[in-house]
Amino acid sequence: AKFVYSFGGGSAEGRAEMKALLGGKGANLAEMANLGLPVPPGFTISTEVCTAFYKNNRAYPDGLDAQIRAALSSVEKIAAAEFGNAANPLLVSVRSGARASMPGMMDTVLNLGLNDVTVEGLATRSGDRRFAFDSYRRFISMYSDVVLGVDHAEFEDILGGFKEQRNYTLDTEVTAEEWQGLIARYEALVEEATGKPFPQDPHEQLWGAIGAVFKSWMGARAITYRKLNSIPEDWGTAVNVQAMVFGNMGETSATGVAFTRNPATGAKELYGEFLVNAQGEDVVAGIRTPQNITEKARIEAHSDAPSLEHIMPETFKELKANFDLLERHYRDMQDMEFTIQDGKLWMLQTRTGKRTAKAALRIAVDMAAEGLITRQEAVQRIDPASLDQLLHPTLDPKAKRDVIATGLPASPGAASGEIVFDADEAERLKSLNRRVILVRIETSPEDIHGMHAAEGILTTRGGMTSHAAVVARGMGKPCVSGAGALRIDYAAGTLTVMGVTLKKGDTITVDGSSGQVMKGEVATIKPELSGDFATLMSWADSFRRMGVRANAETPLDARTARDFGAEGIGLCRTEHMFFDAERIVAVREMIIADKVEQRRAALAKLLPMQRNDFIELFEIMAGLPVTIRLLDPPLHEFLPHADHEIEEVAEQMGANPDQLRARVAELKEFNPMLGHRGVRLLISYPEVAEMQSRAIFEAATEIHRRTGKAPIPEVMVPLVASRAELDRVKERIVAVAEQVAKETGVAIEYSVGTMIELPRAALRAAEIAESADFFSFGTNDLTQTTFGISRDDAARFIGEYTSKGVFKTDPFISLDVEGVGELIRIGTERGRSVKHGLKSGICGEHGGDPASIAFCETVNLDYVSCSPFRVPIARLAAAQASL
Ligand code: PEP
Ligand code: MG
Repeated sequence: AKFVYSFGGGSAEGRAEMKALLGGKGANLAEMANLGLPVPPGFTISTEVCTAFYKNNRAYPDGLDAQIRAALSSVEKIAAAEFGNAANPLLVSVRSGARASMPGMMDTVLNLGLNDVTVEGLATRSGDRRFAFDSYRRFISMYSDVVLGVDHAEFEDILGGFKEQRNYTLDTEVTAEEWQGLIARYEALVEEATGKPFPQDPHEQLWGAIGAVFKSWMGARAITYRKLNSIPEDWGTAVNVQAMVFGNMGETSATGVAFTRNPATGAKELYGEFLVNAQGEDVVAGIRTPQNITEKARIEAHSDAPSLEHIMPETFKELKANFDLLERHYRDMQDMEFTIQDGKLWMLQTRTGKRTAKAALRIAVDMAAEGLITRQEAVQRIDPASLDQLLHPTLDPKAKRDVIATGLPASPGAASGEIVFDADEAERLKSLNRRVILVRIETSPEDIHGMHAAEGILTTRGGMTSHAAVVARGMGKPCVSGAGALRIDYAAGTLTVMGVTLKKGDTITVDGSSGQVMKGEVATIKPELSGDFATLMSWADSFRRMGVRANAETPLDARTARDFGAEGIGLCRTEHMFFDAERIVAVREMIIADKVEQRRAALAKLLPMQRNDFIELFEIMAGLPVTIRLLDPPLHEFLPHADHEIEEVAEQMGANPDQLRARVAELKEFNPMLGHRGVRLLISYPEVAEMQSRAIFEAATEIHRRTGKAPIPEVMVPLVASRAELDRVKERIVAVAEQVAKETGVAIEYSVGTMIELPRAALRAAEIAESADFFSFGTNDLTQTTFGISRDDAARFIGEYTSKGVFKTDPFISLDVEGVGELIRIGTERGRSVKHGLKSGICGEHGGDPASIAFCETVNLDYVSCSPFRVPIARLAAAQASL
């Protein structure tokens, strides 16, 4: 079998399409080599080797060794250098490269091939002893950290102590001879820590590094990242071994990263950062604050550090041409790494660039306008879930701001919270429902869980491509990076700026769109939903077959839903209207009444209020369909439970506390969710259905009186298991409709449908459909009853199920297509077999989940209904499902 794929010297064995086998990095290096771009020669060890390694108890497949030797010798030929050669050594980098980009998750080793002998060769060939020994010491500490498990900090301690003793502030002040002395101390440290001398054989070094990459696939950082980003474990990682080029060979050398478009805003402008005389990791590590690539960006950033465009105009031109070529070739925004060695440009990596949701929209819309992609592709390029970022608040421009510092606008959006300096602490406070801002000098992969828990992230060091910035953008969290004026003292738990000291627990606000850091909490406003967002959503709407409605009962929710483009209300849960302080008294009177007359009297008090609710909803929805569900929850939910509450409520109602207590006891159920609720209640207390129906029809009549046009209400009966249940309640609804028509002289058009949220209802859908005008799948209850898992208790153990891999995802969040989905399919097919084209939708939480929406398309549902904030997500997901 073929395990190793070579590239370089103008050709490659791999291609961009081979990401599954070569990983993203390896596939794109091959593609760049095939495009004729200057890529240092190298080879990729395929992901199959990683999989085999773990299958075979951490042993490599037969034949790998020979293939690596062959590939290495072809690298030697192209690079005109030899691995381990004392006079002319080939040095390589060893990097991981999984199918999906996993920033900072996997380990990298640079300068591999150096030892006590070859370092002299490097010194001679580069004509720079200082550079050679600096490279060697970097290699020893990196290799020892990643492969041998000797902590990087131990090397830093040695170096720090030495610099202090010499009164040096910069590494560049250390001379060649001094590096040599330090290297001896580094080597002694390794020997002491591992019991063995630092490996001198380059082949041993290479195998060590390859093994470390494969092992890091199962490292804690990688596992966390995979979990957060749903990356399957069996993908494995590839290993890329590539000839080194040096960005740290003096003032004519540099290294940098760049995006073909601005990853924060999406603007069509080359965006990137670089460092002169530096090695790759220096830029992303955030140790030195990097310089801008273009003059334009430099000026906008008010930076004094010269741009690449200014100091190396020729190389800049070549770089720009390469970037343009790559973007046109891949037809998407690219994120690239490059190195300039002594004036010669090398391309080290290209990949599809991560971007904020805002940038993603702008890039998709712009590229469609440029003719680079179609509108369909533009719609397919946006991750529906990412829209959530855009629906988040930004700072109110009118609010007062006490700006204490400004850093880089690394990831947009605004957030306030209390200062925490530690990732574990951030996670702990989050679990207590506190809002925190994670404040760090810089972040590293060890901080990911804290970044996840935080509302926003602030760092005092590092650029737009620093770890904090990249990860925050991926998470959609606001981030300000490189706010250099701030001084953090971890030990004291303080943040100081210009004489002001803030402590852990103090509130700050970060604005990742402007880079501002503010003391205290600053008011925020709703996002602007025009521009690119509106354009892309209109394209999405033109491709989408399914309708999108909202679950809403309050006027505020209904308005939000309309603003977000809902095409009606798919579920109005009327019980939510009963909890209002004024109404709950009448609701309780209704519940404790033991005679029908008393109950009717209490309901009569609720009627005008309920009618007003519906008038308001009809008005806001202005002719769009509104599905109103009759009372669903067990009555118990409306009553007080603790003894003192019972006394209090009884007094409020002017009722006898004993009578109330008795009724509370009577209504207690072992399994309320499977108890006296939904249609079962309506059968016991038809007066409730009658009052609600009357409120609906009178409200519709009132709208007709005001506007001359009546809405068409859809009355929905919950938790039906059989046709007989629906028939019973429907009879009452129809009778009320006729009664109201007689009283008012206006006949309202309406329909009566049912929720399908019990397995029996799905199975008996054919006969139920004979009586129903529409179906709405209530997948919350349908999931609960199909699995037999209580939706209210599931949270206690579903996490364990998903983390142990028993469930792929939580079925209450993403529809269980195989089981619950089968019931939806059966229900729709059987319902439509008796009523052609029977209108069917979904109104459980799944109606706002992109994967579930894709399933709804396959069973031809007419619409999905979800919470108002998810409406844009559903519109886009429905469009993608149609394409
Ligand atoms: C459902 O069960 O899916 C549903 C929408 O109803 P509720 O969540 O109100 O029970
Ligand atoms: Mg339900």
